[in-house]
Amino acid sequence: PRAQALLEVTGVTVRFGGITALDGVSFKVMRGTIAGLIGPNGAGKTTLFNCLSRLYGFSEGEILFEGKPLTDTPPHGIAALGIGRTFQNLALFRTMSVRDNVMLGGHARSASGFLSNALRLPHVQREERQLGARASQVIDLLDLQAVAATPVADLPFGTQKRVELARALMSQPKLLLLDEPAGGLNHEEVDGLRLLLRRIQSELQLTMLLVEHHMNLVMRVSDQVIALDFGRKIADGTPAEVRENPDVVRAYLGVE
Ligand code: ATP
Repeated sequence: PRAQALLEVTGVTVRFGGITALDGVSFKVMRGTIAGLIGPNGAGKTTLFNCLSRLYGFSEGEILFEGKPLTDTPPHGIAALGIGRTFQNLALFRTMSVRDNVMLGGHARSASGFLSNALRLPHVQREERQLGARASQVIDLLDLQAVAATPVADLPFGTQKRVELARALMSQPKLLLLDEPAGGLNHEEVDGLRLLLRRIQSELQLTMLLVEHHMNLVMRVSDQVIALDFGRKIADGTPAEVRENPDVVRAYLGVE
């Protein structure tokens, strides 16, 4: 079969009162690739993420995921569809262990899981075992074995970010939306993150879209870079192409 875009965004427009946060944005993300979304503050990156996870509606345009319109899916159905996300500010349970936090990510997909687990039904216990096996896999993949039993609050920030990533992988997403994964990380941690994202990409054949201000990471990890400015797409191509694009240079230098 011909290569199909996993995600196809066409002419998406979002307005907040007088502000046009997204203005006819179109792009495609191919299966198995890493796409970086860049742009100065207020460019519309978070708004686009919120459209993709159905937190925001959009007034015009269409988003196709695996060829199907996303508008058919309610916000709580997004994880089951195969779209996972992390957040700019960690949303972890700080007093719980790494492993328990990771396990909770698995319940995001099987909506009934967490509650019905309390009932100890046989099929639920089977599901718990499967989730446990998956959690071990994900913990290995992200090099979290040594801290699996440690409460999240006792870990360095960089490790906490890895836990959030691990948790997002538990729902077995086809598309993972990463909101500033390098935010707050030091040099060494950013380097580690880059290798980790590549490892996830190759081991899980995952497609990723990341919003990121850390240019060095975006340019080195992405197969495709999409640049927004004032809600409009100003560039879309390989990292090298986008880095050289005069509109991108202008947007970042703030030259009229
Ligand atoms: P940053 O890099 O600072 O996170 P961004 O590229 O993610 O910026 P958005 O947060 O998507 O940009 O914002 C795009 C525009 O939409 C901004 O002008 C912002 O003020 C506006 N905006 C975003 N969300 C809302 C909202 N819920 N209500 C009103 N205006 C909003």
